Amino acid sequence: MCWLCGWVQLAGIEKHYQAGNIIAKYYSADNLPSSKHLGADVLQFLEFYENLTYSDSSFSDHFNNEAFETKQIRLHWRIERNSSLSKKVKKLKGYKCEACEMKFVDKYGEIGKQFIEAHHLKPISELGIGKFKVDLENDFAVLCSNCHSMIHKLADPSDLNELKKILTSVNSNGLN
Ligand SMILES: [Zn+2]
Ligand SMILES: [Zn+2]
Repeated sequence: MCWLCGWVQLAGIEKHYQAGNIIAKYYSADNLPSSKHLGADVLQFLEFYENLTYSDSSFSDHFNNEAFETKQIRLHWRIERNSSLSKKVKKLKGYKCEACEMKFVDKYGEIGKQFIEAHHLKPISELGIGKFKVDLENDFAVLCSNCHSMIHKLADPSDLNELKKILTSVNSNGLN
């Protein structure tokens, strides 16, 4: 049996199990590696899963800034896509875009009710890998989908004021 994924070799079953199994490493029962070796394998597996989950090419447009560390960007997306976290943020901050003040319900009616996106404001460079504390009030902004995409185009996607400045200056100058 594989200690990590629970793969058990039972006649007739193992093929199905293997098909649904993404990654496994086999150790012989009478020659188990050291715990250090096992730990390194687990880390490698986790890295593999992480890459698998976050290499979604639909996000590639957000990755233009080469200065960003891939891992930290992954963490940013993971924080924003953490549904229980973003639910809390939305509940706390409401459903009006903090940059352009648009409310989906005003534009789209019923289907726009309680729709908004949570953007994690902490500079990506400050995100540590591992455990971290979140401050729902100050670490997040609620943004409409347009403003959310635009803030990710800024050199510093944590700079909500910069985005607001752009909006005011473009609106008052009538630029397009
Ligand atoms: Zn907006
Ligand atoms: Zn974001």
